[in-house]
Parts: sequence; structure tokens; C-alpha cells
Amino acid sequence: MTVHENMRVYCPVCQAKFRFAPGWKEGDVVICPICGQKLRLKRSGDEWTGDRPEKGTEKEIRERVDEYARLKVFVFNDMKEELVQGLLAKNRRFGDFYCPCRMEHVPEFMCPCKPTRGGDVERNGKCYCGLYWKKV
Ligand SMILES: [Zn+2]
Repeated sequence: MTVHENMRVYCPVCQAKFRFAPGWKEGDVVICPICGQKLRLKRSGDEWTGDRPEKGTEKEIRERVDEYARLKVFVFNDMKEELVQGLLAKNRRFGDFYCPCRMEHVPEFMCPCKPTRGGDVERNGKCYCGLYWKKV
């Protein structure tokens, strides 16, 4: 199979597509460079998507939160654990890891939420919740 330069992988967490890297194949586990989610590559026809190998688990959200901060070079403060507990509570009540500080449980507010992915931390010094902080 030829890997074309314009191939993209759809991430079900941030609902965006990122570039398929040379050498990747079906079943490989990769990190979404947009939201930090761990994904197992899956092909259907010409489309690539990623499964969430540990969907809904505490391990998944803790890894995603840490990976996203690592990717963006953001830091945490001592509120981190409380906010992660809030994410776990949202998952128990609403079926996924929605922002603990927002009332709407929609895909845009799955952590890291769309405003965060769109530059809120860079602009405001922190995300809406104060989970992710700009490094000073
Ligand atoms: Zn993603």
C-alpha cells in the first residue's frame, strides 16, 4: 500500500484530522498531536481513524491530560488532581471526559476542550478550568 502525503487520521476525541506519518500501519498505537489521545490506527476503505484502546478508563484520561501538556509544553498546579477527579466524575455521569467546569456535555468540550486547542492557554495564561497553564 502506498502512503500518500495527504493522508490523514481522524481522531474521535478532538474530531480533527492529523497527518499520517510514513511507516505507520493498521494496529499501530500513536498519539494524536492535536489532543494527546492515544489511538490505535484503523483503516476503513480510504479513511483512517483511531480507536481509543482504553476508552473511558482513568488511565486514558490521565495519559491524555499529561500527553497534551507535554505536547504543548503546558504545566499544572496543585488543582490538577481535583480537576482530574472532576473529569472522572463527568465520565461516570455523562459518558465521556467533558470539561469539569462547563455545563454542556458536547464533543467540543471533551478535555482538552476546543477553546483550549484553539489557543486559550497561550492567550489567557490558562485554560477555562485552570487545568493547563502556560509555562512562565
Ligand atoms: Zn485528537
